[in-house]
Amino acid sequence: MPTANASPCRVTIWNEFIHERSNADVKKIYRDGIHVALQSSIESQLGNLVEVHCATLDEPEHGLTDEVLATTDVMLWWGHAGHDQVSDEVVAKVHQKVLGGMGLIVLHSGHGSKVFQRLMGTGCMLRWREAGEVERLWITAPGHPILSGIEGDYVELPETEMYGEHFDIPEPDELLLISWFEGGEVFRSGCTFRRGQGKIFYFRPGHETYPIYYDPRVGRILANAVLWARRQDGSYTHDARHIPEPLNPIR
Ligand code: ZN
Repeated sequence: MPTANASPCRVTIWNEFIHERSNADVKKIYRDGIHVALQSSIESQLGNLVEVHCATLDEPEHGLTDEVLATTDVMLWWGHAGHDQVSDEVVAKVHQKVLGGMGLIVLHSGHGSKVFQRLMGTGCMLRWREAGEVERLWITAPGHPILSGIEGDYVELPETEMYGEHFDIPEPDELLLISWFEGGEVFRSGCTFRRGQGKIFYFRPGHETYPIYYDPRVGRILANAVLWARRQDGSYTHDARHIPEPLNPIR
């Protein structure tokens, strides 16, 4: 694990928090919400390297006020049934924060979120099937910091929802994981992107009716991703700059 940084990485976990309150099967697995399971996992992996805060759809401004956004180094995003309920104003703010350097980890069905679609500029849709099949996530970038501590050539999950290609995303900067599913499909399950100064990681596992976020290997990958995506120091300017006076004389 990395050594302690000067200040903890400030993490905001955003969850729409709908299935856990409306579906008894989901409630049995994620009683307090997927965000709380993710928080416990990240805190147990990273301890005082992180300060974790949660936000949900029902809160004013979906819990993503200017103050929360200004003090977030990395955001995790879990959404599914409520993508359309997320206000365009909040989406625009999150988008700008990513361009300015905030890290973003988009989880599973977050592929269909307004935030991810806006950052990718494509539809981000895919094939899917819910049949409790085996998923084998093959490592295609051994040595990448997001995969630090993951033993072997792949991670196998016993019961998953299938996502299959074609996944309508732009070419990722790095492809870390390719999933194979028992039913025959494959999928780009771990992808990195940069937008502006922000780092983005899309990570596929995590359907709400399977206890995937309690898997310690999944927890390790997410904890690694938090540290990888952490906001870096440096200035980023959204606006055009008109420079009428040249730095050097022009003939
Ligand atoms: Zn799902």
